[in-house]
Amino acid sequence: MATVQLAELAKILMGKLVLVLVVGAILVVLVGLPLSWLRLKLERGLIRALRSARSKRQKGESTASANESATTPHCPVCNSLMVKRVTRRGSGAGSTFWGCSNYPRCRGTRAILAIN
Ligand SMILES: [Zn+2]
Repeated sequence: MATVQLAELAKILMGKLVLVLVVGAILVVLVGLPLSWLRLKLERGLIRALRSARSKRQKGESTASANESATTPHCPVCNSLMVKRVTRRGSGAGSTFWGCSNYPRCRGTRAILAIN
């Protein structure tokens, strides 16, 4: 009878082992999958944050150049962008003014407003 009891005990133990394995597998699926999904989501979020930071930086650069072009006046004659020039001759020699970038084809000039 002792061997039968031992066999029964072994069967119960095996059953418990299988139960533990099944429960463990279920736990791995229930906890591991959301964890890996969470990790994937976190990584994607991080990548997205890095990308948005980079694009924000690029946007800032583009707005900076836009500001620069906004402060650069357009020629009153031909409406193209003007460039800073220095008066070479005459009474105002050495002073700066806006000259047309199409010079000498266009002789449009503007006085530099003393903002700075
Ligand atoms: Zn011009």
